[in-house]
Amino acid sequence: MSTQAIAMPVVVSQEVNTHMWEEVSCNLCGSNQATVKYQGTTDPDTENLLKSYCASGNFVSKETLVECNHCALIYTSPRLNRELILKGYTETEDPTYVSQAKGRILSFGQCLKAVKKYVKQGVVLDVGAAAGFFLKVAKDNGWKTYGIEPSKFLSDFGNKNYDVGITCGTVETVPFFPEKMDVVTLWDVLEHTFDPKDVLKRCNRYLKDGGYIVVNYPNIGNWMARMAGRNYWFILSVHLYYFVPKTMKRMLEVSGFEVVSSRPHFQWLEFGYLVYRLEAYLPKLAKAMGKVVKALGLEKTLIPYFAAQTRVIARKVRSV
Ligand SMILES: [Zn+2]
Repeated sequence: MSTQAIAMPVVVSQEVNTHMWEEVSCNLCGSNQATVKYQGTTDPDTENLLKSYCASGNFVSKETLVECNHCALIYTSPRLNRELILKGYTETEDPTYVSQAKGRILSFGQCLKAVKKYVKQGVVLDVGAAAGFFLKVAKDNGWKTYGIEPSKFLSDFGNKNYDVGITCGTVETVPFFPEKMDVVTLWDVLEHTFDPKDVLKRCNRYLKDGGYIVVNYPNIGNWMARMAGRNYWFILSVHLYYFVPKTMKRMLEVSGFEVVSSRPHFQWLEFGYLVYRLEAYLPKLAKAMGKVVKALGLEKTLIPYFAAQTRVIARKVRSV
């Protein structure tokens, strides 16, 4: 957990504690037969874990990951229950995420270019809009924007700084907008949700017929992820699901979509921030690199990086 990110203290009563963890069945096919892929290594520190539910959650997962015997979806089970996780997202303030505005805006410029191959301009809804960086980029390019974000801190930041129409809530609390969307985007969101199939179905309902959905996700089937195994950098407590192209395609299909594009997803971040993220895995290396980066004055330099993420674009082919 970052020393910079501020998380509201979560008081956990003894009574809640017994009901904190829940076993889950497969979200994609409903099966409850699964095989352990990575066994949890220790008893997770629940109170610390609760603090990790924020946009830049940097808490290496010690939970057990399982793989469905029927459809091969990989997910965390048991996991903290829904109310506790949502409470974390709602109350967390995340200046670490906001501090990376420049790099994130640059990354989202590239993302918007990819979207424009399918829709030149129109109405866009960003689900899990965080501080509104993608919506700012879209608005600057002539799009009409809407957003949904559970964190009050982040949604207020986006509305105040960019005036991009973010509603504080979730897809469950905000089922309708005044108009139908041409595009719905979920940047770094779907793997955090409790019920990704339900989220995608709700996104389907926000869209016009023939509209597009854009999802990026850490691809646990990528060669880098397979080589890293349990140490894959996106195996984080905040991630409840781990997709590969096949399970993502299936998840989209059952939610009324047809995949039209699936490509590597690049991002730009400040060198200093990447070193900070590395700390969770290789603290000694990160410390040494941090000194060099500081000595050379490269902390604020933006660098593109690929960390085994995939960006998929799919078209709404039926209503669900
Ligand atoms: Zn399954």
